[in-house]
Amino acid sequence: MRAEAAFFQEVWQAFWAAVFPRKCLICGKLEGMAVEARSSEVGAWPEQMAVWFCGTCCRSIAPVVPSFCVRCGRPYASRQGPGHTCLECLTRQWYFEKARAFGLYQGSLLEAIHRFKYGGKLSLARPLSSLMRRTFETFWEKESVDMVVPVPLHRRRLRKRGFNQAYLLGSGVTGKNGIVLDGRALYRRRKTEPQTGLSREQRQKNIRRAFAVRWPERVQDRKILLVDDVFTTGATADACAQVLMEAGAARVDVLTLARTV
Ligand SMILES: [Zn+2]
Ligand SMILES: [Zn+2]
Repeated sequence: MRAEAAFFQEVWQAFWAAVFPRKCLICGKLEGMAVEARSSEVGAWPEQMAVWFCGTCCRSIAPVVPSFCVRCGRPYASRQGPGHTCLECLTRQWYFEKARAFGLYQGSLLEAIHRFKYGGKLSLARPLSSLMRRTFETFWEKESVDMVVPVPLHRRRLRKRGFNQAYLLGSGVTGKNGIVLDGRALYRRRKTEPQTGLSREQRQKNIRRAFAVRWPERVQDRKILLVDDVFTTGATADACAQVLMEAGAARVDVLTLARTV
């Protein structure tokens, strides 16, 4: 019976592949979908990604692997030894407890984020949010978070883009685990200029006080996981964490899909 089921499944898959040949969602190529597994702390992720991404694109994705800063998740050049706190985290105070990311913001992960965010390729929402879920499961106990809050866009930008990429990514973390997704708890009260090309000081100045909590009672005593697409200097995440903590959140952690080094 099982062999029969497997046979029909194979026939069905062959039929499906012939009618709808799979295209890599990042580079658009038809052939050579990824088969090869690559081990990382996030598990053998390309096996799942093979449905969506080709082998070449999977190989150019670099997951964040140990060791990295226990606080901000900054990866170290050395792959050996336990994680420790990086120099920046030793000398400054963050409002969030810890930040983790799935991979480095380069190669085809960068390409995927650009296509998703600026190109409006919403078919990437599923694979990318599933990477968010796997990263969440790797670095957090599910009891340590009860609410997911995406970094908000300004309403004018949201209207222009039509979706908030952070919200779609964050939806991967919630579900049957009882964690709620609240896309309205936090809002952006003034439009900030794009952060690209700004120095660290300029970014911090640019972002400070750009966010506000809409309903403090909704975040009070909550263990919040703030989600976004990319962690660059941490200025955006920390500005959000600050207003959430000031509104009474119990703690704020940060999960992003990618991270710059
Ligand atoms: Zn590809
Ligand atoms: Zn650090």
